[in-house]
Amino acid sequence: MEKKNINWSELGFGYTPTDYRFMAEWKDGSWDEGALISDSNVTISECAGVLQYAQTCFEGLKAYTQKDGSIVTFRPDLNAERLQRSARRLLIPEISTEMFLRALDETVKANAAWVPPYGTGATLYVRPFLFGSGPILGVAPAPYFQFRLFCSPVGPYFKGGIKPIRICISDYDRAAPHGTGDIKAGLNYAMSLYAGDLAHKNGFSENMFLDAATRTYVEETGGANFLFVTKDGKIVTPKSSTILPSITRRSLVYVAEKYLGIEVIERPVPFEEVSEFSEVGVCGTAAVISPVGEIDDHGRKIMVPSGMDQFGPVLGKLRETLTGIQNGDIEAPEGWIRKIC
Ligand SMILES: *Cc1c(COP(=O)(O)O)cnc(C)c1O
Repeated sequence: MEKKNINWSELGFGYTPTDYRFMAEWKDGSWDEGALISDSNVTISECAGVLQYAQTCFEGLKAYTQKDGSIVTFRPDLNAERLQRSARRLLIPEISTEMFLRALDETVKANAAWVPPYGTGATLYVRPFLFGSGPILGVAPAPYFQFRLFCSPVGPYFKGGIKPIRICISDYDRAAPHGTGDIKAGLNYAMSLYAGDLAHKNGFSENMFLDAATRTYVEETGGANFLFVTKDGKIVTPKSSTILPSITRRSLVYVAEKYLGIEVIERPVPFEEVSEFSEVGVCGTAAVISPVGEIDDHGRKIMVPSGMDQFGPVLGKLRETLTGIQNGDIEAPEGWIRKIC
C-alpha cells in the first residue's frame, strides 16, 4: 500500500476528507449492517432531528502506526461504551460495541494510505457520530437515525515544541447539575463556543469551567479534563458527575499508579486550592496532556510553578509513558491496543 503524498509533520488539526467512511441507518426498530461509502456529504431532510433539536452525539479517537508498521487504535471499546451512554441520554438508538469496532476496523483499514507513518507525530483522527436524520417537527426523538464514522489525518499536537497554555475562569457554565455534561453531545460544544471565543479574544487558549451550582469547584475545560500535581508529587484529578469521563484521564490514572508508582486522588477540587499545586495539565485524546502555565481569575493571575516554557517533571513523565504505550515503544496493559492491520 502506498501512502498518500502528504507532508505529515506539517499537518494541523483540520478536516482532510479521506477515501472511505462508514454509514449505517436505523429504521423500523433496528440498525442495518452498514457499509463503507465514498461520498463525504450527508443528504437529509431540512427537518431532521439533528438540525432542529441537536439530537446528536459523537466520539473522538486516533489510529497510530507503530514501529513495526502495524496500524492500531487505543482502547476503542471504551469509546464504544461512552457512545452508548451518550446515545441513551439523548434517546438515540445505541450501536453495539461489536458494530462500533467493525465500523472502526473497516474504515481505518480502507483508509490505510491516509494513516501517518511512524515517527511523524501525526495520527489518523477518527470521528464516530450518531444523529437523528429523520424529519421531526414537534419536539420528540427523530423517526430514524444514522451512525457514521469518518477519519482525517491530523498533525502532531505540539508542532514547534511544547508550549504551556494560559487559561481563564469562565463566567459561563459548561454543564448543569443533572444535565448533559457527562456525555459527549454536540450541544455541549455549541453552547461553549461563545465562552471559548471570549477567552480567545482575551488571549487565553481555554476556559476553566467551575461547577455551575456553587462556582467553587474545578470542573474541566471545553474539551479536556484537569490533572494537578501536589507539592509532594501526588496527582489530584477532579471528581464530579458533570464532567466528561475522559478515556485519556482514566488511562493516565492507571499509568501513574501502575507504571510510575504515583499516588492518584480523585476528589472534588476547590478552585481556591489550585494555587497550591506545582503542576497543572489538561488531558484528552488530542494532546494526551497539555501543560497549563497560567490561570487567570478575573485579573488575579495564578502562575503555575512549572512555568511557561516546559512540562513539569511529573506530567511530562506521565505523558511520555502513555504516548510510549500508544506508539508501541512501551508494553501496553492487556487489551489496550487494538491491532487493525
Ligand atoms: C472528549 C472530551 C474529553 C476528553 O476525552 P478523551 O476520551 O480523553 O478524548 C474531555 N472533556 C470533554 C468535554 C470532552 O468532550
